[in-house]
Parts: sequence; C-alpha cells; structure tokens
Amino acid sequence: MKRVAYPQMGNLGISVKSFLWELGAEPIEPSPISKRTMDLGVQNAPEFACLPLKVNLGNHLESIEKGAEYLLMAGGIGPCRFGYYGEVQREILQDLQKDAEMIVIEPNIFSIYWSFNYLHGGFVSPLRLYRILKFAMKKMKAIDDLERITQYLRPRAKKPQQVNLRYQKYLKLLDQAASEDRIKELKAEGIERLQELNNPEVKDVVHVGIVGEIYQVLEPYVSLNIEEKLGEMGVQVHRELFLSHWVMDHILKRVDRSSYINAATPYLGAMIGGHGQETVGQAVLYAREGLDGVIQLAPFTCMPEIVAESILPVVSEREQIPILSLFFDEHSGEAGVQTRIEAFVDLIKRRSERSVLA
Ligand code: SF4
Repeated sequence: MKRVAYPQMGNLGISVKSFLWELGAEPIEPSPISKRTMDLGVQNAPEFACLPLKVNLGNHLESIEKGAEYLLMAGGIGPCRFGYYGEVQREILQDLQKDAEMIVIEPNIFSIYWSFNYLHGGFVSPLRLYRILKFAMKKMKAIDDLERITQYLRPRAKKPQQVNLRYQKYLKLLDQAASEDRIKELKAEGIERLQELNNPEVKDVVHVGIVGEIYQVLEPYVSLNIEEKLGEMGVQVHRELFLSHWVMDHILKRVDRSSYINAATPYLGAMIGGHGQETVGQAVLYAREGLDGVIQLAPFTCMPEIVAESILPVVSEREQIPILSLFFDEHSGEAGVQTRIEAFVDLIKRRSERSVLA
C-alpha cells in the first residue's frame, strides 16, 4: 500500500483521507500546523514565496518524517504562481535529498484519473473512481453544511465556544463515518445539536462577508481563527468559498460564475488568477445584499489579492460598504489582528445603529 500524504487546509484532510483509504492507499495525516511547520517551510522555501507554499512545504517535511512516500499537491492554471508550486516544492525536496515522490494533480480529468490510478497501483475503473469520489464529496458537503450553521450560531449562542466544541465533535464523527447513510445521519444530528445552542434573545447581530484567497480563507491557523473571533464579537460571517464549492467550480466545472463576474466587471473586467476577480465581485454582491461589511483575507505577496485590494476602496465608496483588507505572513500576530477586527466591528456596529435611527 502506498503511503500518501497531503497538505493541511481547513477540513480538506477528512475527505482526502477517506478517499485515499477507499482507493487502496494509506493516508498519512499531516500533523496539525504549528510554529514548527511554519519554521520548516520558511527555512526551506524562497523568501518571496507566498504563505501557502511555505506552510505546505512544512506539512510535507513533517509528513516525510512520519513515513510518507508520496506527497499530493494540487496544480493550477492561470496567471498566478500556484501553478508552479508543486514543481517548486518537488525541487526543494530533491535539494534536501528527501526521496518522497511529489504527485501534482492538475485540474483536468486526465491528470486526475492518471494520478489516482497511479496511487492505487493499477487500473481503477471509472465507475469505481466515481463512487469513491462521490463518497468523499458527500463528506465534504456535510462538513461544509455544518460549518455554515456554526457561522450562523456563533454570534447567537450564549457561549460561542460551545458551538466550536460541538462542531469539532461532529467533524471527528464524520471523519470516522464509513457509509453514505452514516454521513446523512450525522449531518442531521449535528445540525439539530448545534441548533440547540441558538439563543433567540440575541438580536443585534451584524453581518460580514469574508472574501479572499482560498487557503487564507479556509485554513484557520494562518488566519488566526478570525471567523471564531468575529463570531465571539457578535458577527455572523458569510462566505461563498467552501471546499465543496471549490471542487464543484475548479474540478467539476459545475458552478455558474456569472453573478460575481458581472458584479466585478465594472471594477475588474479580467480574470487575474487566484480568487482576485471573485474577491471584487463578491464584495460588490455582499454590499448589494445589505451586509454590514466585508473583510478580505490574503497571504502577504499574493498577486491577485494585491490587485483586488487596490480596487476594493473604490468598491467601498461606490457600493457604500466598509471593507477591511488583512494580509498575513509568518510574522502576523494575534494581538494586531484582534485590534484591527475589533476596531472594524466597532465601526460597522455604530454605522448600522445610525442607519436604524435615520
Ligand atoms: S492565489 Fe495568491 S497566495 Fe495563492 S498561490 Fe496565487 S499568488 Fe500565491
């Protein structure tokens, strides 16, 4: 059985792990991201590389220590450095004389099919592969649905920490789920148990849309648990970027992008790589939906998000919505982020009180 590792990004590992077991490979779970992960990545990656590459490289190095023989990495197309990152990591690992093999999965059906056959160690029929993928997708979708409920409940629960604990409990149970029926059962039970924490007396919730680069948005370690912090401040977070959404969009090409592209076009009429155009378009849509504010999350030096950041002040002015841009790197600290989001939430709360009085 091939021992296969993958990088850490939010809850991605739960579905990937289940997919690899079903495929007949042995998943090597990445250690939770820590200062050591970050240090390993920073020491061995080029200084100019963006944060996700550094963290992923740290994940790979730790997984090799745990016995990984193969390392999975997504490839990419378009005007962003992501497309090179699998190759850059492969070369760094070669220079470090690590003999794990890097498998870069490009976002096209042939690369995906070839890679999975290779990991299986022989021919896998398309029908079997479809069933394995469908099962992994069910898990991913159930996790994303539970996460949406936590976003709604954190600002409405007496103790937002309880929402986080209950959510974590159901993530663990979903991790172990071995059938589609069990996934369905756990999702329904998880939603019910989470909704018990709703406090109907809470009325003054403000609404903030999260936009930005996918890794920064989905991985709580690198964005310093910003969604939990916002929830504790009485903010309901809204976001479109979820793992299942990304797979449906980038791999299965089943997402209609016209709404955010149309909204972005007067401000940014071209696809600039990563999620740059989506960041602008989604910020416009959130303003038109009546949300109280938008927060952009991005890694320091992320080119598409730097372009988007330069456009967002115009969006903010014309669409009448406060927007805060936060860029993160390995030096970002809790205190600085906490202060900035507290000031932002204070601003939007006062603004929404004024509009109620007007
Ligand atoms: S989207 Fe940004 S952070 Fe992600 S790989 Fe591209 S440049 Fe780097």
